[in-house]
Amino acid sequence: MTSRIEQACLDKGLKMTGQRRLIARVLSESEDHPDVEKLFRRAARLDSRISLATVYRTVRLLEAARILERHDFRDGRARYEEVPKKHHDHLIDLATGNVVEFRNEAIEELQRRVAEKLGYRLVDHELVLYAHRIKARDKTGKK
Ligand SMILES: [Zn+2]
Repeated sequence: MTSRIEQACLDKGLKMTGQRRLIARVLSESEDHPDVEKLFRRAARLDSRISLATVYRTVRLLEAARILERHDFRDGRARYEEVPKKHHDHLIDLATGNVVEFRNEAIEELQRRVAEKLGYRLVDHELVLYAHRIKARDKTGKK
């Protein structure tokens, strides 16, 4: 079966080797924002012959082909996800490292207006919120 990302590669005319197909499959099945090490571990579970260098090269190739998006969430590791059909932004939970996806039309519109006011037409943006979760209030009202 052809994975979604493999199909995207084929559509863009990329040559697909067995290992690239495997990495494409792992990426297609990832619902988080894995870094290369994590992708490597997932791929190695399916094929122990795969190398970290191959995963690096493939991910960079897919990024250059605009099949993958690279994110920087300030933890020193580049994170990847499939280019989404509809743009979203990210919130990082500083305590857990959890990545929360969101989309806010008011922010989208505001950013367009800011660019316009500066004499630009906005083509892209990346917004990352870093946050601590607000503790739910104790129901009894005690602290
Ligand atoms: Zn995302």
